[in-house]
Amino acid sequence: MLNKKSIIILCIFLALSLFLVVWYFAPPSEEVRKFSDKIDRYRPEILTKERENLLLEFDEFAFDHFPILDDDHPLFIHSYLLSDLHKFYRLRFDKLYSEIKNAKVPDGQIKIWYVYNMGVVAKTKNLTIGFDLANRWINFDIPKLADQLDILIISHPHQDHYDSSLVNRALERGVAVVLPSGKVKEEWREPMRSDPKGKELKEIFGNSEHLISMDEDETKVIKQAKITAFAAEHGKGCPPVPTRWFLVEVDGFTILHTDDAELIGSEAVKKIPGGIDIFLMDIRAPNRLSEISFLKPKIIVPLHHWEIFHGKPSTIDDGENFRKILSFKDEVHQQIPTSKVIPLIWGESVSLDTEI
Ligand SMILES: [Zn+2]
Ligand SMILES: [Zn+2]
Repeated sequence: MLNKKSIIILCIFLALSLFLVVWYFAPPSEEVRKFSDKIDRYRPEILTKERENLLLEFDEFAFDHFPILDDDHPLFIHSYLLSDLHKFYRLRFDKLYSEIKNAKVPDGQIKIWYVYNMGVVAKTKNLTIGFDLANRWINFDIPKLADQLDILIISHPHQDHYDSSLVNRALERGVAVVLPSGKVKEEWREPMRSDPKGKELKEIFGNSEHLISMDEDETKVIKQAKITAFAAEHGKGCPPVPTRWFLVEVDGFTILHTDDAELIGSEAVKKIPGGIDIFLMDIRAPNRLSEISFLKPKIIVPLHHWEIFHGKPSTIDDGENFRKILSFKDEVHQQIPTSKVIPLIWGESVSLDTEI
């Protein structure tokens, strides 16, 4: 039999759990809904002063609603899950998911949606391709994106670039999951790292027949898409890990995704063919301007901004955010006027045709 003290503790626990569940499922505040609706009134490819102000407003919004206990303590998942930023992200994701599911992209067009961090979905008439889709803690619905994909590309096995539930769901559905070749060591609570005595990355992901390993500078045709993997090395601060830049040629369009990484060798960019339509790039990399001057991509989408679980920046100025992206955009537009930078907010999309 429970004594009185146990019953009181149980009641407090149940009340707290009920409160958290009600809070989690409570609708977003009016401020959150209004801001999301405001974003939907803009077309990202039309970069007016008002659009730039909206992007800066997003910086303020994200910074103000970024959950943190205090400056000395890291972000905990539950503080994010109960935050307005989470409710905002869920609104953005629900819209994005139904758009991806229902979009009928005509011949000669491509549509690109921005999901999170370096995660993007590209849809053409014949194929839907996901790049670096992560992380279910941002929104528990993220793994269901697997249901809409034909191909999933994972640039490298860091958890801000893939999600194991999403990968498993994709493999069960016969999605071709493309990833770098290479042996790695996996340890509890440590990022994977290259290790010649470790297991092949494909084995770590379950060795399914739908997993496709790509060697450095290798090209494969996968479900009507021509995919080339370029040798790259991960940005500083992390142990080496198998990583690639992926070039995808699909239905008349060429997409290049840079990962967190730099190509290996100063001449390596010259191996990449010209005529890149969409350059999906990490805004943090120092050499992007010189790469862009060589590649002259038509459209540049800067990514790896406002990444939630790497913690809140101490000020807006020191984070990867739209302020930084807009100043990068100014540099690109001055120096390489044929390339157009299109910054995207979570859940936004841009459509391009072969005449871009
Ligand atoms: Zn990484
Ligand atoms: Zn990353």
